[in-house]
Amino acid sequence: MKRMNEVSPDFSGRVDLVGAGPGDPDLVTLKAARLIQNAEVVVYDNLVGDGILDLIPPKVERIYVGKMAGNHTLQQKEICKLLVEKAKEGKRVVRLKGGDPFVFGRGGEEIDVLMEARIPVGIVPGVTAALGAASSFGFPLTHRDYAQSCVFVTGHLKGDSVDLNWPMLAQSRQTVVIYMGLIGIEIISERLQAAGLPGDTPAALAYRATCSDEKLFLATVATLPKIAREETVKSPALIVIGQVLKLSAG
Ligand code: SAH
Repeated sequence: MKRMNEVSPDFSGRVDLVGAGPGDPDLVTLKAARLIQNAEVVVYDNLVGDGILDLIPPKVERIYVGKMAGNHTLQQKEICKLLVEKAKEGKRVVRLKGGDPFVFGRGGEEIDVLMEARIPVGIVPGVTAALGAASSFGFPLTHRDYAQSCVFVTGHLKGDSVDLNWPMLAQSRQTVVIYMGLIGIEIISERLQAAGLPGDTPAALAYRATCSDEKLFLATVATLPKIAREETVKSPALIVIGQVLKLSAG
């Protein structure tokens, strides 16, 4: 990959990939807010909350590129094309993404395309959903007595299965946070137990963490699918697993 400062454009447009955080507008960084206010175009998707969109000045062009289910690859290509086109028109473009752009945000793919097109790119980190959930629901991700490590994985289905390193995830004394895991929750619960994680290990579903309607549904690894079904938990939600949940206020 080329280094970012090697880009030498012959036009004045640029794209900043900006993390919008998990939902609470107060968790947007000062740098993100400044870029949003100085943008000419803001390209955003469905995880960016209304309170954050309110930061966009009225004169700024807003383009919604929320993903349509089952159409991901095509959509992603179109989004990249749009970013390149707008920057080549000389516009200051903010590509606003929920959480952090480099945590399951496909930021890497967008950067590649932009650099290929020799467009100046900046990246602004955001508070990723796992950090938002931990602080909002009051459980630490690591703790001297309960968890020496913390892993973030995607539970996104590939075909009909979830392709993860189950023995690694089933280890004790760690916190596991699964993004995009709702659809595969049955498989996740089964495979973790089959890999040796006790069914009574504390687990939870963290729905819309940091938003005004956030909710934490406490469960165990064994009861996760049942709780998700009974409480009709919808996206966006994280699956959190580990003894640290015992400390949650939720
Ligand atoms: N880049 C984002 C993640 C995008 S993947 C980040 O860093 O947070 C989308 C997944 O993120 C959702 O399926 C859900 O699992 C999780 N997610 C995003 N916002 C969330 C929120 N406020 N509460 C709970 N989960 C959230």
